[in-house]
Amino acid sequence: MRTLPREFAPYRWAPSTDELARRVGLDPIQIVRFDGNVPAQPPASARPGTIAAALAHVNEYAHGGYPQLVRAIAAYAGVEPDNVVLGAGADDLILLCARTFAAPSDRVAIDPERTYPLYRVAAGLAGAEVGSADPAVTFCCRPNNPTGALGSLPDARPLVVDEAYWEYSGETACGLIDDGVVVLRTFSKAFGLAGARVGYGLADAETAAELNRRQAPLPVSAVSAALALAALADRPDVTGQVEERERTAQALRALGLEPLPSWTNFLFVPLEEPETVGEALLRGGLVVRVFPDGIRFSVGDREDDDLLLEGLARALERPTPVAPAGGRSRRHLRATAETRIRVRLALDGAGRVRVATGAGLYDHLLEQLAFHAGFDLVLEAAGDLETGPHHTVEDAALSLGEALDGALGDRRGIARYGDAVVPMDDALARASVDLGGRAWADVRLEHDPGLAEHALRSLAQSGRLALHVESSGRDEHHVAEAAYKAVGRALRAAARPESATIPSTKGVL
Ligand code: PMP
Repeated sequence: MRTLPREFAPYRWAPSTDELARRVGLDPIQIVRFDGNVPAQPPASARPGTIAAALAHVNEYAHGGYPQLVRAIAAYAGVEPDNVVLGAGADDLILLCARTFAAPSDRVAIDPERTYPLYRVAAGLAGAEVGSADPAVTFCCRPNNPTGALGSLPDARPLVVDEAYWEYSGETACGLIDDGVVVLRTFSKAFGLAGARVGYGLADAETAAELNRRQAPLPVSAVSAALALAALADRPDVTGQVEERERTAQALRALGLEPLPSWTNFLFVPLEEPETVGEALLRGGLVVRVFPDGIRFSVGDREDDDLLLEGLARALERPTPVAPAGGRSRRHLRATAETRIRVRLALDGAGRVRVATGAGLYDHLLEQLAFHAGFDLVLEAAGDLETGPHHTVEDAALSLGEALDGALGDRRGIARYGDAVVPMDDALARASVDLGGRAWADVRLEHDPGLAEHALRSLAQSGRLALHVESSGRDEHHVAEAAYKAVGRALRAAARPESATIPSTKGVL
């Protein structure tokens, strides 16, 4: 074996979610990871249907590589296909660049000094030393991990600029590929495909050809290539994430903290005792990346980020800058061949609801139900809507029921029964609910826009509730909406905590 430089240290992954959950005695579903610098959700295009064709040929090699993906990347980056080098994530390309440009006993420069550790690993694997005197190649992380800063570009050449987070900054060195610059990018961040392991390098045609000559024959799997190609159908829109980053930064400042300005999807917060804070957060299921002088965490979406802000406030014994989430809550993930659904539900919420499955009317109906139940609910789905809304609507209702069942726990102390009458213009709906734990559904809508009755039955089935609903009127939308509001009102009453006892004379539910 060729010996590695004495100071060589391999890349170290954070522990798995199962391992972290075991460590603090939580269910893995309760662990929320903020330590990967990845978005909260996969893209809508990451569905079984997207990879079906690749699976049908998975016994074969992708002879000739992935010209369609290379063309799509070139179009996205504004270069020609012969400027593109594919890799299994940006990491693979960092290793490729190091071994291409640096020989044993060469020097590799890294700028800024405090940055992503893989450049050092890559230099070591190439047998090179890290140092700034007369380097064979310079690596520059821009924007930088872990600080989030957008530094200036070094003049050094050859220069490899790691733009893993470029979509969040809008700044690229891509215009310099004919001037000795290689740009590295990834599908792991803005595209939300970290698990697929797809990255690409951009370089002048000659350098790209040389890198491709030294690259593994097929570094990307056909399944991953299909996911990347599907994700490229739309340019990723990161404005929501950037706004959420700034909202989170503002809330951190309200907590008396000073997050560093960030051009990425994460924030670095300098802290006095980061280890202690990190441990306290972990006990609550919140995983951040701990550094000697602070913590770094990815910005996800409002609901998850509020959990972190609340956790930080608790760890620092300061007043929370966000409305606290209710206690009886559940995170739930349901994935089938047809749909992928993620639910976050808090029973004692403030009516903060967002249902986004793409099945418009039913999103609206479930939002009405949750809002009138007083829940906080985020339900997001990517379903096979091309086959119609049936799978998506049914699975969304089933998932909500499963989350409700989980959030109710052993159902001790709840009122158990609830009922409501809700008029809506021409429509009048009545709903009664028994949360005793036995599923039953008697749902009659005079007019059903399609799946409204079916979704309520699915909810009753997976939520283990008895549901009686009757709604009549002229307009089918009103009939359905009144019914969903009535079910929401009835659920609000039935789920209300009343005492510490089991709400049954049998003593069991
Ligand atoms: N570069 C930087 C700066 C990163 O932060 C990361 C991942 N955290 C990577 C590269 C690795 O990206 P990939 O998943 O594409 O290998």
